Amino acid sequence: MSTATKTRPTKSDVVEFTCARCEVTSRWTEGLGAATPPNWVKEKGLYYCLVCRRERAMEQAVEKAGGQSVSTADRAKLRSAAVVDFEIARDPDRTEGEIAKAARASIGAVRKARKRRPS
Ligand SMILES: [Zn+2]
Repeated sequence: MSTATKTRPTKSDVVEFTCARCEVTSRWTEGLGAATPPNWVKEKGLYYCLVCRRERAMEQAVEKAGGQSVSTADRAKLRSAAVVDFEIARDPDRTEGEIAKAARASIGAVRKARKRRPS
């Protein structure tokens, strides 16, 4: 005897998003004021998850600095600086501690990055 009833969200409200880069999927209920899942972006018709947004920011920083010609050590520095910049730009109102945590960087690195940015 089973009397359990589950209320399911109506199909039309839930949209599945697939990241164009890592192909992770996220289900998100549309109509809550956001067209994409939290922290996702839509670029040129493609969706990217937060992990890939960070990854792309890092890749772009390396590309800008010369791509293949950048040494491994410089590449690591560029990548960590890029992710800090990305996290500051994503939500500048967070504390330095929160940004550092999100970017897996030190608070000192966040402070330095903030000084680099024109305000
Ligand atoms: Zn992704």
